[in-house]
Amino acid sequence: MKIYNSRTRKKEEFKPLKKGEVTLYVCGITPYDTTHLGHAFTYISFDAVVKYLIYKGYKVNYTQNVTDIDDDILRKAKEEKEDWRKLGNFWTEKFLEDLKFLNILIPNHYVKATNSIDEIIEINKDLFKKGMAYENGGNLYYDVSKFKSYGKLSKYSKRQMLILLKERGGDPNDPLKKNKLDFILWQKSKKGEPFWESPWGNGRPGWHIECSAMVRRFLGEQIDIHGGGKDLIFPHHESEIAQSESYTEKEPFVGKWMHTAMVMCSGEKMSKSLGNLVMVSKLSKKYPSNVIRWMLLSNHYRMPWEYDDSLMTIAKKEYSMIEKILEKKGNYSVNPKAVKKFEEFMEDDFQVQKVLRFVLRLSGKEENKETIKMILEILGFKVI
Ligand SMILES: [Zn+2]
Repeated sequence: MKIYNSRTRKKEEFKPLKKGEVTLYVCGITPYDTTHLGHAFTYISFDAVVKYLIYKGYKVNYTQNVTDIDDDILRKAKEEKEDWRKLGNFWTEKFLEDLKFLNILIPNHYVKATNSIDEIIEINKDLFKKGMAYENGGNLYYDVSKFKSYGKLSKYSKRQMLILLKERGGDPNDPLKKNKLDFILWQKSKKGEPFWESPWGNGRPGWHIECSAMVRRFLGEQIDIHGGGKDLIFPHHESEIAQSESYTEKEPFVGKWMHTAMVMCSGEKMSKSLGNLVMVSKLSKKYPSNVIRWMLLSNHYRMPWEYDDSLMTIAKKEYSMIEKILEKKGNYSVNPKAVKKFEEFMEDDFQVQKVLRFVLRLSGKEENKETIKMILEILGFKVI
């Protein structure tokens, strides 16, 4: 099986560290708003990956975090005069409902950042002791000048990193930092904000460190696959590598980095700030789960694509052709040649979109009914 590794930018043979087992971590949501198609695309793409690995006989240990404490949540809670925990729980529930509707498997470990504070402090203490982190004004920072290969995942120049850091909510000009690219491991809580005790004073964890802590706690020091949206490559995943490899003194932290492409809408990346979000909850009122899955999986996970309503119309039409075949009464057996073809597509960096085209071609003949059923079930469709 070949998987494209974002770090080497090559398709590489996939060999898990432990025979027959796969450790997978995918960065989760910050629960302060509803699930949009960008999220759905990431999690449904990984759902197909997980289900295929299970079909191949692997035991998959899948972990995902919930960033239930951060600036956005606290800001929204303040705006809505709501308790930050209640707000986070509410949107986490909504997210899980959307996943359930889309028939996406809930990870084996689905964990809130606030439930990993001890592990976070433990790693931070170690980084501080090793001189990789420093304290200033109640904040603990990771010193990127101590990690020579900072940038090895994104391969961005320092200049590019500084531009992106600013764009993505970081503050290169924070006067408490030694280097502009240093990032927060522990943040002093402002008056009235929630806090946890730590050797650096009352505060809360930085964003990147929660993922390093959860990977280590639930999956181990080195893992097979780490995933997330492409916009997480820098600074989030770059910083995860620095923290984890400094802590464990083992590399690589991750065998294969898999990043899902951005979903566009009206010519721009789908994002809250641009106001062009398409919500899963809205589509789910109009279309069955299988049709939405068909539309999403018609795109390869690494290929950027643009959503417009006509894609749902096409998906509905195509999926109804499949359903017609599945409703046929005749008795047929699975075609091993077709299954082999399906496996070839999947083992070439999970070309699900090619599988769907293939299934559509198979749907021209009634005798392919059982083969289609089998393939779609593996890919997470609810087939009766
Ligand atoms: Zn993460």
